[in-house]
Amino acid sequence: MTIDTIFARIVRGDVPADIVYRDDLVTAFRDIRPLAPTHILIVPNEAIPTLADVSAGHEPVLGRMLRVAADLAAREGIAQGGYRVMINCRDHGGQEVYHLHLHLLGGRPLGRMLGR
Ligand code: 5GP
Repeated sequence: MTIDTIFARIVRGDVPADIVYRDDLVTAFRDIRPLAPTHILIVPNEAIPTLADVSAGHEPVLGRMLRVAADLAAREGIAQGGYRVMINCRDHGGQEVYHLHLHLLGGRPLGRMLGR
């Protein structure tokens, strides 16, 4: 059973969001608490809880998420300077919303990935 999350409601259109892209497999919208000038979340339309729950059948949607991230980075004007894509998985990964999502972050230097 999949828990109904805020992101599932955004995908269904039941909760408003600043949606920047949508197709048959994924939806992308701006993070409500942005950590960088560009902070977009790219989520599968299907409610996969975490990266640890994916299987071979999810390869098309996982590929789409990355391709859309690259396209949106170009559209946002951050491709030249560079950006970061990030997926938090479960408790130790700091995942807050249990509907798989990829963070696209950029628009300023983001520093090293993790503190020591
Ligand atoms: P996580 O920590 O699960 O990888 O990231 C969840 C992200 O979702 C956070 O950056 C948080 O700001 C964002 N978020 C949480 N609730 C909402 C919401 O209702 N709308 C939008 N657009 N973003 C949300």
